[in-house]
Amino acid sequence: MNTLTSFSQLLLSNDLLKNLETVGYTTPTPIQSELIPKIFQGQDVLGIAQTGTGKTAAYALPLIDLINNSRRRANMPSCLILVPTRELAEQVTESFKKYGHQYHIRTATLIGGMAQKNQLKSLASGPDVIIATPGRFLDFYEKGKILLANIKFLVIDEADRMLDMGFLADMHQINKLLPKQKQALFLSATMVPSIQKCAEEILTNPTVVKIKPAEKTNQKINQCFIKIEGDALKSDSLKRQMLRNLIVVKKITQAIIFCNRKVDVDVLEKSMRHHGYKVYGFHGDVHQSKRLEYLEAFKKGEVNFLIASDIAARGIDIDGLPHVINYDFPKSSDEYVHRIGRTGRAGVAGQAWTFITAKEQEKGRRVLPDTLNFIDMSLPADQNKESSKANKNRLTAQPEEEVVGFGHSIPKFMQIKIPKSLTE
Ligand code: AMP
Repeated sequence: MNTLTSFSQLLLSNDLLKNLETVGYTTPTPIQSELIPKIFQGQDVLGIAQTGTGKTAAYALPLIDLINNSRRRANMPSCLILVPTRELAEQVTESFKKYGHQYHIRTATLIGGMAQKNQLKSLASGPDVIIATPGRFLDFYEKGKILLANIKFLVIDEADRMLDMGFLADMHQINKLLPKQKQALFLSATMVPSIQKCAEEILTNPTVVKIKPAEKTNQKINQCFIKIEGDALKSDSLKRQMLRNLIVVKKITQAIIFCNRKVDVDVLEKSMRHHGYKVYGFHGDVHQSKRLEYLEAFKKGEVNFLIASDIAARGIDIDGLPHVINYDFPKSSDEYVHRIGRTGRAGVAGQAWTFITAKEQEKGRRVLPDTLNFIDMSLPADQNKESSKANKNRLTAQPEEEVVGFGHSIPKFMQIKIPKSLTE
């Protein structure tokens, strides 16, 4: 593999290089080294890369230069970027602005769940790039608001997520509306047969770029499992107490806490607030404008915790987010990888905590990606005894809030025990 190790070798324009200096990127990530030259060569690309690897810049940077150097036509966008979620759409839009501000590349971000007025306005101003979720895009197209004859570049980002969310038919329909002569880029974190098939239909003679299997990306994330047992198995309030104890003992001041269901997000949000924590609940029923507001507040540190459904598992990019907590065990390996991928981004170490019952532990062997097999999911008997002894000592020696037992000698698996007297 011919890896290019500096941005200047990638033939990006001088202005872009200056911008990268300003945003503090010194070296390209592997996907950037691989993808940027291929995009400049006009190839269709199938990129297998996880979130957090720098994939957005890998396509945004060359596209900015290509769009800038191509003939820009009023009211005729030249680039369409399809994304599965509103959050990713916002992030991609931000990237175009951040990297290419002096090129005056106009973007229109078309996302469902938001008022149409401003989006129509941005369409009317003649965007070069449309960043859209498929449903809203088709909605506007069918109303005759988008001209597609000049589309030269199509990006499908997080294609696996698109398929999960049932956008396959929309993707095909949109592809058919576009000019045949175009360059298409297809990015996905996983490569299952359904993705392969979909990519084959959309791409022409694609070059496949595969970056870092999951375990390499995840090496930056220390993954810890917390066993739920005894009374906590039957009591939600005890489980919530385990969470608060984890936060106190590990001095966690910023984390996304994932629940599986919206209703559990609401319950946990209420409970955490009741206990004096600054939190926001974040799920599909929370209005989009509120979600953006909450995300901003979380990024600025005005609230410490986002209690979230899987809607926050992808596309959300928070610089240096130190912790992700799986309060509920995720339903699939994909969700697991994406949730914990909110931390440990761009080379910064992160910490993921996952609450797990014995039943889930069994299931976990199947659910967690093969790449995570290195995690010791069992608690060796002798260490178990030792940590129980340590827990007992701790329980009598510590003030209330700190009454938590950790198996310190066990690196990947912890126990948190809560005495009955401390229940809510
Ligand atoms: P992405 O995979 O596109 O979601 O990007 C993950 C994070 O990496 C974002 O916060 C980017 O700003 C950051 N990033 C992208 N490229 C680089 C780079 N070459 N050097 C440092 N950070 C980067």
